[in-house]
Amino acid sequence: MENSPLFNAGKGAVFTNQGTIEHDASIMSGENLNAGASTGTMYVKNPITLAHSIMTNSEHVFLSREGAEEFAKMVNLEIVEQDYFYTDFRFNQLKKQKNSPSKFGTVGCVAMDINGNLAAGTSTGGMTNKKWGRIGDSPIIGAGTYANNKTCAISCTGSGEYFMRSVVAYDISALMEYKGLSLKEAVFKVIHKKLPSIGGDGGLIAIDNKGNIVMDFNTPGMYRASINKDGEKNIAIYLE
Ligand code: ASP
Repeated sequence: MENSPLFNAGKGAVFTNQGTIEHDASIMSGENLNAGASTGTMYVKNPITLAHSIMTNSEHVFLSREGAEEFAKMVNLEIVEQDYFYTDFRFNQLKKQKNSPSKFGTVGCVAMDINGNLAAGTSTGGMTNKKWGRIGDSPIIGAGTYANNKTCAISCTGSGEYFMRSVVAYDISALMEYKGLSLKEAVFKVIHKKLPSIGGDGGLIAIDNKGNIVMDFNTPGMYRASINKDGEKNIAIYLE
């Protein structure tokens, strides 16, 4: 999905106020709470691969900008020019929305493997017109991404400033772990009560440790798809 120009991640990601494209990504394993994340990279072709590499090949969790690029080169990830990420669609968005950041289009993934281990990943260009090295929720473990085999795996999309302040992904896991809520109840509480109470809009995809899938949002729509262990697919944009 990072290689498709249709999403706000990798190729086709949104532009910053400076006319650059700067990616954020994160990944987490629910089995051992290992995680990796990167922010502000401009030349790594696949930021989610960088996040995965940070998780598996470094002693750190979160790397930024030039340092993250240096690490990417060290582990031989594919490096490209900024031009590779360019799309007319996103450039026109920047021109039109110079003063009002647009939202969403981020790519997220949650999964349970054959052994019942959960994982979550999120990759984004962030918000159109972002300034001053702005970092959103997507690369922040606990805000935009979280996975824990005890509870669930979550990947968020939406107005990152509010998702960070609500610590959305971890909050859902905590509501399940400490309060005994189901995934559906916990997601409902955070997406339809807590987040809107401070003005946040967006949604998330989630899977719990029994394989229940929840994809919920407080916006008119959210591109989403799922497949369960029986091969049943669900693809939707608006409310069903
Ligand atoms: N949450 C992302 C951010 O704030 C944007 C998005 O989901 O589209 O950077």
